[in-house]
Amino acid sequence: MSGFAVDPCDKCEEVLQPFLDRELNEEERALAEEHLSLCDYCRKRYRFEEELRRFVRQAATEEMPPELKSKLAELRTPLL
Ligand SMILES: [Zn+2]
Repeated sequence: MSGFAVDPCDKCEEVLQPFLDRELNEEERALAEEHLSLCDYCRKRYRFEEELRRFVRQAATEEMPPELKSKLAELRTPLL
């Protein structure tokens, strides 16, 4: 048996992006899920992207406390 599921696979870009963006119809989604269950590389990338998206969504929706905002503003002040 030759090595598999280690190299980035061609399907990744093709399958993952629309899958993450929920742009697939039923049939396409089933195919994408099937691929994820077979391909280690895609599965790991999918999990990573999902986490990333959740984090970004959270960061975008959560109200930043005023103290933190002014702290960040201070930090952003140029030192020179
Ligand atoms: Zn793959």
